[in-house]
Amino acid sequence: MASNHSNKIIAFHSSLGRWYATHGRRNLPWRTAGDPYPIYISEVMLQQTQVKTVLERFYFPFLECFPTLESLASAEEESVLKAWQGLGYYSRARNLHKAAQLTTPALPDDLEGLLALPGIGKNTANAILAFGFRKPYAVMEANVKRVICRMFALKNPTTQELWEHAEALLNQNDPFDYNQAMMDVGAMICSPKAPMCGECPAYKICKGKNEPSAYPAAKLSKITPVRHKRIIILQDANQRVFLAPRDERFLGGLYGFLEQDELQKQIEWQGKKWALNAKNQIGTLTQTYSHFRLQAKVHLIQLTTAQNGKEWFTRDQINALPLSKADEKATGILLSFYNTL
Ligand code: SF4
Repeated sequence: MASNHSNKIIAFHSSLGRWYATHGRRNLPWRTAGDPYPIYISEVMLQQTQVKTVLERFYFPFLECFPTLESLASAEEESVLKAWQGLGYYSRARNLHKAAQLTTPALPDDLEGLLALPGIGKNTANAILAFGFRKPYAVMEANVKRVICRMFALKNPTTQELWEHAEALLNQNDPFDYNQAMMDVGAMICSPKAPMCGECPAYKICKGKNEPSAYPAAKLSKITPVRHKRIIILQDANQRVFLAPRDERFLGGLYGFLEQDELQKQIEWQGKKWALNAKNQIGTLTQTYSHFRLQAKVHLIQLTTAQNGKEWFTRDQINALPLSKADEKATGILLSFYNTL
């Protein structure tokens, strides 16, 4: 409650409010949406993707395909994944779809109800409550975490400590603008490398302003493992290519070309074997995922017979399928290969 707050914090709320009124990104479409559903969509998109990318390429097209929770719930998973293509982390899209089916026609307006839905953690639930329902919950995405670490000079705080600070600092009288303002301060002022402390509304109470880069302590950078693979494009006599739905958890639901370890230098298909070598290699690609980097050689294997079955697609049909980034790149390599023939 505001009454529990010290005068310093009340003064900070005023300063933050004034800063936000002048400099905040108040026109972001999910901030003016008013309806919890587009706010939910934007929050899930923003979990791993920058505002600019979400705004320019994904938010509006997705809502055009699925303008309501009901329309998302009744869609085929394949079309949801297709609309998500390019955003990566496809489990987010599968969870959105499942959550819509569980909760349609409306999102719950309480923490327990939201946390019970797949893909919704504390931060997303709090954001939906603060922005969609204007309830007094603190939001703590990556930018806000950094601001809080600096404001309280925290080097290696636990998640619980961060939440305690975030909740103690929250302006309960205006959680919507307060949380948006904290996110904007993190994105626009308290940047990781060059914070502009002189312009910051938290300047007066910030304990880390003399050495912002010390908070939070830098993490040791992890070495990303590399996976060496071969992506094999089978093409039948009618120039249709083979793409099957992936069933593994990672990238599950997307269509993909055949893929195998680079050490395997041949492919077996319906009793026939082909060597995988420089003669049928049409390109290479790399793709970085959250936990590894893929380096793949792309091979084109030409079959002499026409194939039947729902996993064979013409070049035009490929465009309508949800594909991973790597398979999208392999498709691009295939198309350039045709163009050079
Ligand atoms: S005063 Fe500087 S370090 Fe502190 S929150 Fe503001 S920008 Fe970040």
